[in-house]
Amino acid sequence: MSSTVTVNNLSHIFGKGQLCRTVLTDINLELRPGEIVLLTGPSGSGKTTLLTLMGALRSVQSGSLKILDQELKGARKRKLVKLRTQIGFIFQSHNLLDCLTAAENVGMALKLHGGSLSDRRDRSHEMLKTVGLDEHSHKHPSQLSGGQKQRVAIARALVSEPKIVLADEPTASLDSHSGRDVVNLIQQLAHRQHCTVLLVTHDARILDIADRTLHIEDGRLST
Ligand code: ADP
Ligand code: MG
Repeated sequence: MSSTVTVNNLSHIFGKGQLCRTVLTDINLELRPGEIVLLTGPSGSGKTTLLTLMGALRSVQSGSLKILDQELKGARKRKLVKLRTQIGFIFQSHNLLDCLTAAENVGMALKLHGGSLSDRRDRSHEMLKTVGLDEHSHKHPSQLSGGQKQRVAIARALVSEPKIVLADEPTASLDSHSGRDVVNLIQQLAHRQHCTVLLVTHDARILDIADRTLHIEDGRLST
């Protein structure tokens, strides 16, 4: 496989009739295996929309979007659900379930992949150890700091060893020190697992982790 994500002439419109608004125009890009690519651009420029399209969380309207050699345009729901299990998501707000412990939150990501409960437990604990939280695996998200919660979210995104990780402003709610830790961790794990990362950020302090930086403005991409 020469590319993990291939986007051709992708456009996206929100709304209908007089209220309709084009938020992505003629996007073309390619993400290669193991690459860490940053996506920057002002608020409202279409970054999250592009990420959710790539994550099969939103239907492709026009153009072509291929993930792991599978076309998303016109794809059936079942195929999209299956593809989503091969993508790790990290959001600005960690999106962890507070009714579950850190270890259970990570283990949830493995549930769709099968395996025994004890195997899932072992892998979740191993992953939490990797992100430096082995002492905290029994805690609930509300008992953790912002940076720790985001590290749990990273563990959850990467525990199933996805080929692609999509991260939407993962450092936005963190102080600069925790933000740095979080991106270093994403970089380190992505290299180890040879996983492609697309990371949306406003944060000029972390530009150095990227192999490449893309810029989007008013729904149009430039490098
Ligand atoms: P960014 O992540 O770069 O801030 P978004 O992709 O979230 O930008 O939004 C791009 C544009 O699309 C914005 O003008 C936003 O208001 C609009 N938008 C986003 N989601 C929706 C939606 N579900 N319905 C209508 N408009 C939307
Ligand atoms: Mg956004």
